[in-house]
Amino acid sequence: MPEAFAGRIGIMGGTFDPIHYGHLFAAAEAASGLGLDRVIFVPTGAPPHKKYGGMAGASERYEMTLLAISENARFEISRTETDRAGMSYTLDTLVSMRDLYPRSEFFFITGVDAILDICNWKEPFEITLLCTIAVVKRPGYDNEGLESLPEAIRRSVRVIETPMLDISATDIRRRVREGLGVRYLLPEAVRAYIEKNGLYSKMDGEPS
Ligand code: ATP
Ligand code: MG
Repeated sequence: MPEAFAGRIGIMGGTFDPIHYGHLFAAAEAASGLGLDRVIFVPTGAPPHKKYGGMAGASERYEMTLLAISENARFEISRTETDRAGMSYTLDTLVSMRDLYPRSEFFFITGVDAILDICNWKEPFEITLLCTIAVVKRPGYDNEGLESLPEAIRRSVRVIETPMLDISATDIRRRVREGLGVRYLLPEAVRAYIEKNGLYSKMDGEPS
């Protein structure tokens, strides 16, 4: 059912395997920089083949994301991608958000690493018609790469100036696997969930 809410909505997509402070900080900075009323986190569905060994399931990534956003009243979560079988396209997610909130304005929040890949996404130009792309800087990725995007896409990009956090989920998974600490890289409730459920502690196929 469409909702009457007519505000500015940020959409933060990701694998969130696991969600960490880099994601939460990017969402919060985009929200304050762009005056967003809400940010909806959209964890991706399960890819048909795991992208790497030890990837957490869609429901685990959804639950970690839910735990992580609980302290911020503006942050919400959507099942739109985790409920669909297989991977979803950003375009399809934006279309379903627009159908749900036909009176709202959308901002797709993404790190610069992800947006530089946009030309490989399904119908990138259609995406820019549905939302403004809010780009957050990320260590190791040059913002100058944005200039190589096609003009039609660049027009819809807004760069959010924020301090950069050198945190990645890949590095957190590695640290867990190697028995190194991850406290202070992600919310404590997420760290405890990882520990309790034994996530990332070994690669798939390794003997337990
Ligand atoms: P992985 O290492 O598994 O790719 P990740 O840390 O990159 O994980 P994703 O779930 O792939 O996290 O990223 C979701 C979105 O959040 C992407 O748009 C990505 O660019 C952005 N993002 C992730 N980490 C940061 C960070 N530290 N600073 C800014 N943006 C980030
Ligand atoms: Mg990533």
